[in-house]
This record gives sequence, C-alpha cells and structure tokens, in this order.
Amino acid sequence: MICVSLGRTRHSSIMEEHRALASKGAELVELRVDYMRKKPDIGLLLKERPTPVVVTCRRRSDRGRWFGTEEQRLSILREAIIAGAEYVDLEDDIAKSIRRYGKTKRIVSYHNFEETPIELYDIHRRLSQCDPDVIKIVTMANSPGDNVRMLEMVSAAQVPTVGFCMGELGTISRILCGRAGSPFTYASFSREREMAPGQLSYAEVRNLYRFNKITKDTKVFGVIGDPIAQSKSPLIHNAAFRKLGIDAVYLPLRVPADGLLASLKEYDSLGISGYSVTIPHKEAVLQFCDSLDAETDEIGAANTLYKSDGEWKATNTDASAAMEAIQSGMLKAGGSHELVGRKVLILGAGGVARAIGYALQNDGATVTITNRSRDRGKALAAELKCQFASWENRGAESCEILINCTSVGMHPNLNETPFEPNWLSDSTLVFDTVYNPEQTLLLKHARERGCPTVGGIEMFVRQAGRQFELFTGESPPLDYMTETLRRAMSAARMVVAPESEKTEDDESESDD
Ligand code: NAP
Repeated sequence: MICVSLGRTRHSSIMEEHRALASKGAELVELRVDYMRKKPDIGLLLKERPTPVVVTCRRRSDRGRWFGTEEQRLSILREAIIAGAEYVDLEDDIAKSIRRYGKTKRIVSYHNFEETPIELYDIHRRLSQCDPDVIKIVTMANSPGDNVRMLEMVSAAQVPTVGFCMGELGTISRILCGRAGSPFTYASFSREREMAPGQLSYAEVRNLYRFNKITKDTKVFGVIGDPIAQSKSPLIHNAAFRKLGIDAVYLPLRVPADGLLASLKEYDSLGISGYSVTIPHKEAVLQFCDSLDAETDEIGAANTLYKSDGEWKATNTDASAAMEAIQSGMLKAGGSHELVGRKVLILGAGGVARAIGYALQNDGATVTITNRSRDRGKALAAELKCQFASWENRGAESCEILINCTSVGMHPNLNETPFEPNWLSDSTLVFDTVYNPEQTLLLKHARERGCPTVGGIEMFVRQAGRQFELFTGESPPLDYMTETLRRAMSAARMVVAPESEKTEDDESESDD
C-alpha cells in the first residue's frame, strides 16, 4: 500500500487534493496538519474523508512546520484519535504520553535526517516498547549499504514496520520496503511537493515502479551511475516490463564514483539480477564482473552487468546498438548497409566514441577521430589504429557518415552544434548520439541540407532493448519503449510514467 503525504495551508485545498487522490486510487493518505496556516479543524478534515488517513503533526525540530505549542500539538493528535482517524503518527518521545483509544492505530515513529544509525535494531526495540501498531523508522541514506541494513531490519521485525531511507541514495529502500514486509511506503502528491528528501511522487511509486505489485518473487534491476536522477532508463525498462507482464522492477541507483565495488557487493544481498551501467562506472565495473565478452574486453568499458549461471557477466550494448541504428539509417536512405570501406568521421573521444569506433573498425569502416582535447583524441585514434583530424580542421574532412559522440547540443544547450551546417555535404548520413533533445540542432541542419539522419533515441532504445533481452530472455517491445520515451520527453516528464501508460491492472486497482 502507498501512503500519500498531503500538506497544504488551507482546509479546502487539503480536502480537494484528498478527493483527487482517492479518485486516482490512493488507499491511504497522510494529512500533514502541521502545514496548515490556521489551527487544523480535525473534525472537518475527517468528516467524509474519501480514504483512510494517517494524522501527522510534525514539530519544527523534526523538520515539520507546526507553529503552535507542544501542548497544542499533543491535543490535536488526541483529537484525531477521538475523531476516529485510522492512524496517528506519534514520535517515539511522545508516544507514551498519548493513550490508545478506540480503533485508531498508533504509528510510533523515528526520523533521522542526518544518517542511518548503526543501532537500528536498538531503536526498533525502543519504539516497540511504546505500544505501536506500526513502527516507522525513516533515516538518511549516506551510502547504498544503509538501504541494505534498513531492509534487513524491516525483514526481521516482529511488529509491522515501515522502514526506508531518505535522500537520492534511498530510492531503492522506498520501493523495496514492501517486499521486505513494510505495510506501506510513503509518496508525495507530486514531485514538486516532496515532503522529505528523495520522496517520490504517487504517480512514480504506483505507475512507474508499481510498488503494489512488488513481491518477494519480483526480480530487481537497476541503473548505476552518478548522477542518476535524470536517467530515462527506469522509464523505458519499467514500461517494457509492464507491457510484457514481466514481474520485475528497474530502479535508479545512485552509486558514487569511489564506492562502486563496495556498493555492488552490498546490493548482492538484495538479490539484484542485473544492472545498466552509466557514467562514471563503465570502465571500473569490469573489475566486478566474473567474465566479459571479447568485444567488451577490447572496448575496455561495459554498460551492462547481468547474472548468468550464477556469474556476473559484463557486456557493452552501446556498440551493437549504434551499429544497428547506423545501418538501419543507411537502409532507410536507400543505400546498402555495408560498412566496409565507408569513410566515417567521429566527433569526440569519450566512452561512446570509443565503443562506436571499435565496432566500426571491426566492421571494416575507415574511421577518423576528432576531438576538442587534442591529446585525448590522438590517444583514441592511436588505440583504434585509425586517423586523427584536429578539432579546428574537422570541417575539412570529407566523410560518408558523421557521428556526434560529444555532448554538444544536449539539453539544456539546445542552440549548440559540434559541426557547422556549411561543412555538411548533402549525401552524408548524420548520426547524433545525443538523445535529449531528440531533434538536436545538428540533426536540424542536416535535414535542411537534405542529409539522411539518425537520432540518438534509435541507439538509446536499442542498447536498452538488448539489455532487456539479457535481463529477461524476452524480446524487447522496442516500438513501445521508443514511444514511451518520446512521449515522456515531449511532456518534459522524464521520470514519471505518463497517465496514459496505465495498464488495465492499474485502472482496476483504482476501482477497488
Ligand atoms: P564522455 O566520455 O564524457 O565524453 C564526452 C565527449 O564530449 C568528449 O569527447 C568531450 O571532449 C566532448 N565534449 C564535451 N563538451 C564539449 C564541447 N563543449 N565541445 C566539444 N566537445 C565537447 O561522454 P560519453 O559517455 O562518451 O557520452 C557522450 C555523449 O553521448 C553524451 O553526451 C550523450 O548525449 C551521448 N550518449 C548517447 C547514448 C545513446 O544511447 N544514444 C548513450 C550514451 C551517451 P573533451 O575530450 O575535449 O572533453
């Protein structure tokens, strides 16, 4: 079950949003009455409430907004109990001073906005002595391992325990706490209205991560990187799971650069079945895997870790995805998809340039590398045994295929291009690996010139599709993944599953 936290300054707003949430299928709503500008009228808020509620009145020392005295706060909580609220939230230090009455269930809570203390079990024991129906322990995650300790504690608890970590590092425990036995997790009304660090919106928790469907059998996958908040991988992998009815969830996992190996070992105890790997871990992740294929070894970087026969295998799906995208572009342009002898100019010398460069060389293309930082470009050209052109002279290079592997033109720098329009010749196939935005300035110039083009989405969805296949053994619904990504990007909602993506299952949940 998902408990949606509502905090508004006016009674009318809180009641209106409460009704809106109920119409979207919310089963439990936390009324954060400390957000109200005037003294809360508990009778009014609870009268004709459309869902069961948790009444919470958080003081300022616990990052709440309560403006009155402590005495007044306690009397509001007692009033909520007398009025028959389904739950009241009582911090551990006041729980004993508020008596049990009627059917109202007592959530005895502990919050720590600094850390996840080592003594989680001691805290749990202390809370269990305060006559709880539900224990709630919410702490700040400072490392991936904090989530693991928290979920282990929730699993071992004898009293129903809501336990998860806050902050960007805490997302995994917010989503997997139900699987560990937590009776509910918390979500905000919307992303803009997060009420605790890292809190996800109701739409994300319900439609994107499908919290209510996660069980002990649900397979868990994720993307590791830093930063990770803007990654679109969760959007398309979860959409594909939903489309094919696969019991799996895919999470964004922020893993700091210096903590990769330790984090992966810690996550092992959560039974994670596979990872997409992004900046800055694509090279370092090779130290973690048990084996890797020859191409990935040659490229020296992986974007995928998957379990096979109990072993962690690393592979790079970027290279094959880019090749497929280029070749389908060549076919669409009416030519052959043969790469042997084709003259290709690659802009950039980072990880993507390296992966694409290796694959093109292996397929017999004649590759030239150019890069803003001369030494890096020359080093990659030497490694690939291909030609190098200086960045200043890149416009003078003639090529049949131009590939942008720099981040120039990427959101928010929409007005930038790495290649001037007058340098393009009209038969050149232009492939921009940048996928946000889909229509980069480089692609716009290329189309105006009459050049065939391939957008970064073509590669992004294919590399994810190949991962999906390795993760699940199923063919990926590529068109659906593409459509989902396009729709989300055009709506500028990169993480939340669009309303229209709800499945029939989701709809029937809201009717319950
Ligand atoms: P990376 O290793 O950080 O390399 C970045 C490259 O961009 C370097 O060559 C860098 O040149 C160049 N660059 C950055 N800012 C520049 C500027 N202002 N002018 C000229 N060159 C500049 O990153 P990566 O992993 O290779 O990713 C590169 C791009 O590929 C990303 O930005 C992303 O849009 C795209 N990508 C697409 C997919 C997909 O599936 N479609 C997947 C991954 C990445 P210096 O060496 O001079 O710094």
